Amino acid sequence: MTEVANKVIIVTGGTGLVGQAIKAVVDKEEKDPNEKWIFLSSKDANLLEMEQTEAVFKKYQPTHVIHLAAMVGGLFRNLKYNLDFFRNNTLINDNVLHSAYKFKVKKVISCLSTCIFPDKTTYPINETMVHDGPPHESNFGYAYAKRMIDVQNKAYHQQHGCHFTSVIPTNIYGPHDNFNLEDAHVLPGLIHKTYLAEKNNEPLVIWGTGAPLRQFIYSHDLARLFIWVMRNYEEIDPIILSVGEEDEVSIKDVAELVVKSMDFKGKVIYDTSKSDGQFKKTASNAKLRKYLPDFKFTPIEEGIKESCDWFLKNYDIARK
Ligand code: NAP
Ligand code: GDP
Repeated sequence: MTEVANKVIIVTGGTGLVGQAIKAVVDKEEKDPNEKWIFLSSKDANLLEMEQTEAVFKKYQPTHVIHLAAMVGGLFRNLKYNLDFFRNNTLINDNVLHSAYKFKVKKVISCLSTCIFPDKTTYPINETMVHDGPPHESNFGYAYAKRMIDVQNKAYHQQHGCHFTSVIPTNIYGPHDNFNLEDAHVLPGLIHKTYLAEKNNEPLVIWGTGAPLRQFIYSHDLARLFIWVMRNYEEIDPIILSVGEEDEVSIKDVAELVVKSMDFKGKVIYDTSKSDGQFKKTASNAKLRKYLPDFKFTPIEEGIKESCDWFLKNYDIARK
């Protein structure tokens, strides 16, 4: 007799950095015959459109949704398109959450980000502080759209008893990232720039002063945590998925790790005419540690080396 999976999990944004990491971890480490995983791309459904969103829910009848699809980008893309970030992400989130309600999905896990927290705050930031004050001005469009997911989760729970929750990752990096020079986040941007500097015998130009601090999480670690949240986390309130405060590093530190991993021997310069963005957004992972005290994060040197190697090996297919 063929076994029928009792969980059907759709992953929106299944072709992206995080979606592909979840796919790799499910395939390699976390196969469960009771779970059928479906990784969606925007070609399966443009989630900006309610009709297409409903059609994809009708087709797959998911019991669980990991909602990753979003307009995403680094500091410099956010600075240019605050309106688009706000409108597109608000529309996508509303279409996905309302379809999940209509099609009686048992659990939805959406993805927020530590860059949505108040700019003026005390540190470390924790899950209770999402709505405490205005976000950093560089990415207010993205930040307010993401904050509204938390509002919707509470309201769907209160009014309809839905189990919609969210996770809050810090800066993510890994294979299948977006390596576009202008739009990328800092790590994929620096990996691509280092490749070009080496190839063209030019200096590597790092934007800003290199002083800002960030916590980076390797996409495969985040994938393992997403799978744990999908299976085990019962709260509606969000949970921060992050390395510890002691693992915060500067942009200069990560630039040096990229240089080392790619064996770049040329000159490195800082273009201080470019924005530094938010100085820091140090987050606490105490709540995560209460649930998973023994979870092991990939050391950043290792994760950066794997990301650089992936980019070099997959140069032709990498998003850039
Ligand atoms: P990504 O690599 O840029 O992937 C974005 C995904 O969203 C792609 O699969 C894309 O599909 C899909 N998508 C975009 N617009 C869509 C639309 N209109 N309809 C359907 N699908 C659409 O992003 P990521 O870095 O994996 O981010 C995943 C989640 O993590 C996002 O919610 C993001 O806000 C959050 N996050 C990211 C970071 C980070 O550092 N990257 C940090 C914190 C939180 P196609 O490729 O098929 O078009
Ligand atoms: P953020 O963490 O949301 O601010 O986003 P990013 O991942 O884009 O990181 C931005 C930080 O990295 C800022 O301090 C930038 O000045 C610095 N940075 C240095 N070089 C680059 C680059 O090539 N691309 C990007 N996106 N940021 C860079």
